[in-house]
Amino acid sequence: MNLKNSLLFLSLLTCLPCFGQKFSDGMVRISTEQQADGKFLIYGEHDYLAPISVWLEFSTLKNLTPNGAVPYKAVIKAGEKKKLLLTLTPKPKAKTDIKYVYKYTLGDYTKARHQIDYAYCLPFLDKATYKLSQGYFGKFSHEKQHCIDFDMPEGTEIVAAREGTVIAMRKDSDQGGATRDFADLCNYVIIYHADGTFANYLHFKKDGVMVSVGQQIKKGESIGYSGNTGWSSGPHLHFEVYQPNTMLPEKKTIPTKFRVAKGKIMELKEGEKYTGYQGNE
Ligand SMILES: [Zn+2]
Repeated sequence: MNLKNSLLFLSLLTCLPCFGQKFSDGMVRISTEQQADGKFLIYGEHDYLAPISVWLEFSTLKNLTPNGAVPYKAVIKAGEKKKLLLTLTPKPKAKTDIKYVYKYTLGDYTKARHQIDYAYCLPFLDKATYKLSQGYFGKFSHEKQHCIDFDMPEGTEIVAAREGTVIAMRKDSDQGGATRDFADLCNYVIIYHADGTFANYLHFKKDGVMVSVGQQIKKGESIGYSGNTGWSSGPHLHFEVYQPNTMLPEKKTIPTKFRVAKGKIMELKEGEKYTGYQGNE
């Protein structure tokens, strides 16, 4: 018997936002145990305050029969400890071998469905005006992604575009630059929404994140101060909403509408300037 698991973290922040932001956070643990009867059990657990979707992809599965289709997809809820994902039963008297990688993305791929009529607020203060320097599918770094960038000076106050729970953040980086080398150095906030989607707010300045994991945030509530950390070519805020892709171990970014003035809800356009409006109608 030869058991070898190679583990692979899927970047949560691969939005290529202002180029891909990538991190391995050690939040997800997949383990394999062999029982006395020879069966292999694969378990999973994680530390996020939201469900995650996990994909197990086998490059070797010799003389073992899984009790589910592979690649295997599963959802691990928040707080679920040592969830049994898959059982592999050996063929009698045969030499077995397993090699697999796991990938994961935030959210429950079976349930997350974006509320398409939700009116997000602009993620900055009332009456503050900033240019949308890159829009959906922007050629600079948002190809194939529904992400937006607002140019703004470092230290600009950022507010939540939608209510939810902070499930991840980083604020200790003081580095940023226009090459991939900086991808792991992004300060960010991730907020989990009631419909199972998430929002990424990226590039906060050092010590500029003013919320903590587990905190409930209201729409329009301040979450920190913008910056230029991570893979970024200049001071700006990157914003995107996403849910797990049902077919692939990736996230799927989603177009969203913003309330930009009384009675006016719209998708934003690259190159336009927008003024913060925190009203609810
Ligand atoms: Zn961006």
